[in-house]
Amino acid sequence: MDLGISGKRAIVCAASKGLGRGCASRLAEAGVSLIINARGAEALERAAEDIARATGVAVTPVAADIATEEGRAAVLKAAGEVDILVNNAGGPPPGMWTDWTRDDFIAALDANMLAPIAMMKACLPGMMERGWGRVVNITSQAVKAPIPVLGLSNSARTGLTGYVAGTARQVAPSGVTINNLLPGVHATDRIDALDRMVSEREGVPFDKVRAERKESIPVGRYGSAEEFGAACAFLCSAHAGFIVGQNILLDGGAVNATF
Ligand code: NAP
Repeated sequence: MDLGISGKRAIVCAASKGLGRGCASRLAEAGVSLIINARGAEALERAAEDIARATGVAVTPVAADIATEEGRAAVLKAAGEVDILVNNAGGPPPGMWTDWTRDDFIAALDANMLAPIAMMKACLPGMMERGWGRVVNITSQAVKAPIPVLGLSNSARTGLTGYVAGTARQVAPSGVTINNLLPGVHATDRIDALDRMVSEREGVPFDKVRAERKESIPVGRYGSAEEFGAACAFLCSAHAGFIVGQNILLDGGAVNATF
């Protein structure tokens, strides 16, 4: 299927690895030129070169922390006018509800709620003026089914979800859509780290932790960044203009719910 977005321009935040990288690659395959971001310059520059080589589109890397005002300013300055915005950042650390301090909450809110809101506030006016735009926020299955050890994530992402629910309906008349993609367990560095933490905490071999987790997912495997990226590219496509303010779960059936 031709996604109908060749020649468009996108910012993909937190995209040197994992799900952000999957989204960047699939958008590039659809002919979208990219501004990609991450904090670590080396992996980011490598990702930009690989994507540009594989697809022939222009890919500009901007090494910056998207959770900071300066980081966002650097990304936005390099990007100029964009048609597509994919919001993403690293997830908060796991822990216990009894441990989290105000500072822990502020850090989670900065990265996973306030950063995407600031990026939307910066990019939406131009998209609305030009009459076309797509925003996809990478959130988490935790929005639909809370993950106890990820309470900081549960909280910050639900806040973002509320903001999107209202805002998406306000910008839709201008041809701009905002939707959220909710990843379940995908094979990325983040999940490696979480599986390792469980293995160490419970004294269970890493492979056993992983096998048990796979068994808990109806499809019997982890998702891939590539298939996640394909869903993102479709939401950013010319065909997705009637999909507004949705929270789309990509979890292999793990959340056991009718809706
Ligand atoms: P990942 O493999 O660890 O990759 C994270 C990417 O984001 C890297 O490129 C990292 O590069 C970049 N990054 C992290 N913090 C950043 C920041 N403050 N500013 C700019 N770039 C930043 O993670 P992932 O698995 O793709 O996860 C992406 C998001 O989805 C996270 O919020 C995660 O919590 C959420 N999620 C993932 C899963 C899953 O199964 N993978 C499930 C649910 C939710 P640098 O470190 O160099 O900055």
